[in-house]
Amino acid sequence: MTQAGPSRSIPASEPGVGSPEPAFRQFVVKVHSRCDLACDHCYVYEHADHSWRDRPRVMARDVVARTAGRIAEHAATHGLDTVHVILHGGEPLLAGHVRLRWMAEEFRSALDGHCRLDLRIQTNGVRLDEHFCELFREYGMRVGVSVDGDRTAHDRHRRFADGRGSHDRALRAVRLLQQPGHRGLLAGLLCTIDPENDPLRTYSALLELDPPRIDFLLPHATWDTPPARLEASATPYADWLITIADYWFATECPVPVRLFDSLLSLMAGGPSLVESTGISSADHVVIETDGAFEQTDSLKTAYHRAAATGMTVFSHSLDEVADHPGLRERRRGIADLCSTCRSCPEVKVCGGGLYAHRFRRQSGFDNPSVYCRDLMKLTSYFRDRFRLLKQTRQTGRKGA
Ligand code: SF4
Ligand code: SF4
Repeated sequence: MTQAGPSRSIPASEPGVGSPEPAFRQFVVKVHSRCDLACDHCYVYEHADHSWRDRPRVMARDVVARTAGRIAEHAATHGLDTVHVILHGGEPLLAGHVRLRWMAEEFRSALDGHCRLDLRIQTNGVRLDEHFCELFREYGMRVGVSVDGDRTAHDRHRRFADGRGSHDRALRAVRLLQQPGHRGLLAGLLCTIDPENDPLRTYSALLELDPPRIDFLLPHATWDTPPARLEASATPYADWLITIADYWFATECPVPVRLFDSLLSLMAGGPSLVESTGISSADHVVIETDGAFEQTDSLKTAYHRAAATGMTVFSHSLDEVADHPGLRERRRGIADLCSTCRSCPEVKVCGGGLYAHRFRRQSGFDNPSVYCRDLMKLTSYFRDRFRLLKQTRQTGRKGA
């Protein structure tokens, strides 16, 4: 299941302790490389990279074992107390109940005695059933479901190959995860933004599902394949998010929205909570079904094999992967950004947006984000909001 691929619906991390290279703490494990949906906004199947065609459909047992072993080795080397493993795809539930059980068991036993395992799965929900829920409960696996809003919004892109929408199935999955016996399994909802969808209807539809958290994601795009823009607005994505943020603040932020929380956290001098904001380093790694280590999945939108490292779980350690030039480059902080971003007043909060969104064939990643105008507007909006919140708190304290 992708954001329109995986989101990086994954917590941000900190460097490991006493290590030669900053440690990875997040591992996106592609347990199945195909999907039962045919979403037209999917970056795995519909964008520049087509490497999925050459991958095994399912991650084999020896690849899972080796992956788990590499993560355990990395945790021990860097003294990590927790690692986050996200079972991903394609659609990970296509791996089936039996395989997912031994995969979960493999990770649990490999990491037992090394560190705490935060095991998650990101799904489109189509195949989610009671047996999967029992499995998730047994292994303490938390579940992210991709829902793009109400039926109109969701089925605009998230369809089966025969054109049927998948909204009913996604909602069925969320409701199953919300049953009293399964409370706590739902980690959050992942919504890919489409400005064609009404923002408040989209937000309300998500809120009605009572999720513990909502993630809004910009659809992956580059300067060569720019995002759809409505003619009426130069900043449709910022406008869409700001409409929701206005309502979110007015209703006292009833649910965590990670993008909004991340912007506020950065303004307060705290950490970024998502890969798309702040000066983030490459803190996670992807393991494909054949055991290949890859850089962040969103690079698949840039060009064919943009995410490749040439390393696998059989041939290389995670420290060697961390030393890959592409990953090293992205640990240079502000120095890694183009001159426009480096001189931008919002650079510490915006961070140049998602790395993949900076790509242009002639200049590589040495550009601002293709969403620059939207990001500038969104960041300025949150800066004003942050000031207001601070003033209100100060006034409240003085009045108390
Ligand atoms: S659910 Fe849609 S976006 Fe996710 S992997 Fe399948 S086709 Fe791609
Ligand atoms: S707003 Fe634009 S110029 Fe400023 S840091 Fe973000 S992408 Fe770069």
